[in-house]
Amino acid sequence: MTDLFLTPRLKPILEQVQKFMREEILPLEQNFPHDWANIAPALEAKRTKIRALGLWGLHLPATLGGMGLSLTEFGQLSEVLATSPLGHYAFCAQAPDIGNTELLHQFGTEYQHHTFLQPLAAGKIRSCFAMTEPEFAGSNPTNLATSAVLEGEEYVINGHKWYTSSADGASFAIVMAVTNPENAPHARASMLIVPTDTAGFRIVRNISVMGEAGTGWLSHAEVMFENCRVPQTHLIGEAGKGFNLAQHRLGPGRIHHCMRWVGIAERALDMMIRYAMKRELNKGETLAQQQVIQHWIAESRANINAARLMVLDTARRIDAQGAASARSEISAIKFFVPKIMLEVLDRALQVHGGLGMSDDTLLAYWYRHERASRIYDGADEVHKTALAKQIFKGYEK
Ligand SMILES: Cc1cc2nc3c(=O)[nH]c(=O)nc-3n(C[C@H](O)[C@H](O)[C@H](O)COP(=O)(O)OP(=O)(O)OC[C@H]3O[C@@H](n4cnc5c(N)ncnc54)[C@H](O)[C@@H]3O)c2cc1C
Repeated sequence: MTDLFLTPRLKPILEQVQKFMREEILPLEQNFPHDWANIAPALEAKRTKIRALGLWGLHLPATLGGMGLSLTEFGQLSEVLATSPLGHYAFCAQAPDIGNTELLHQFGTEYQHHTFLQPLAAGKIRSCFAMTEPEFAGSNPTNLATSAVLEGEEYVINGHKWYTSSADGASFAIVMAVTNPENAPHARASMLIVPTDTAGFRIVRNISVMGEAGTGWLSHAEVMFENCRVPQTHLIGEAGKGFNLAQHRLGPGRIHHCMRWVGIAERALDMMIRYAMKRELNKGETLAQQQVIQHWIAESRANINAARLMVLDTARRIDAQGAASARSEISAIKFFVPKIMLEVLDRALQVHGGLGMSDDTLLAYWYRHERASRIYDGADEVHKTALAKQIFKGYEK
């Protein structure tokens, strides 16, 4: 933690959230993820307590019953929530709902606010975001085949998506589909809200990811849209502006992800230190006395501190000047922080030996599922190229 970005209103909230995580959430981790069917109702009960404590809506604007915190303030809370894989869900600040909430809040109509955003922000329903298609490189998202054709006052959607995270059990999907094929590539697609009980919306399967297909919120679906009809009122913003909306959704979204990764790295380091201090190689000789392990711990400490400062500095820029002015910083943290987190997880797992490979600690779960951090929301290579291009621009002047 750093107190460089701590505001007077954040400090007491941060302390309350830390206490809640320690006392109420960490004890539920024992059967995670295999017993999600029982953990999910237990988390609902925690949500009731969170509301009673006045801690609901850490990420929400005041108009939606939230705290109206800045991105920089919420980022620091997000790190604390991420120290458990259950934290964000307990506080209803989980992906992909958090991104959809922000998007609908900023660009949704009154009807969309009332019908979709309010129950989402209240934690009564979940949602998902369907953009990536198996047949096309997600790294070039202008290559979409999913179409939404206006017939009278309805859009008719046809397409094939995958990696629609948390579609299983979601009440609606925000779908990226081509509505204006005649336009330039970046002005062809739009975002549309599709309730998942719409005829023609079909989950093909939950994809097995690193050996686990998961269920409910903890899953990634392959989805078909077959003559799915939604009213024109389900269009978010203007037709053809889907990519502009995606940019708005992804800027703050990358701060959320990066602070989550900082939180995971912090917890992994904590586990590494505790285990190294108690695991004896010989009587009285612990792993912590081995120089290589001391170096891993020291390097992890320095790397996490650096990652946190970079992310919070980027969040501060977004708060002050908007996401567009922090493009380079956003690209930098999007490839830098996953690398740090995955290195720390790898070291922590190594220090735990066989125990680290087992599912008796959270390390193996994180090791499997957080590998994707280098792929979604822009693969490493895409962000490195984008950053390098920005750097070159500075030299061309
Ligand atoms: C766990 C998980 C959850 C996801 N959740 C969602 C979701 O909820 N909704 C959604 O719509 N999508 C989701 N995605 C999809 C994700 O956004 C895409 O996987 C990502 O955009 C990459 O697209 P792709 O898989 O088609 O890879 P491709 O675009 O085919 O790229 C393959 C690889 O090529 C390399 N590459 C790409 N471009 C370049 C370049 N310019 N230079 C050099 N190398 C390059 C990268 O290493 C990349 O990993 C999720 C993915 C995962 C793994």
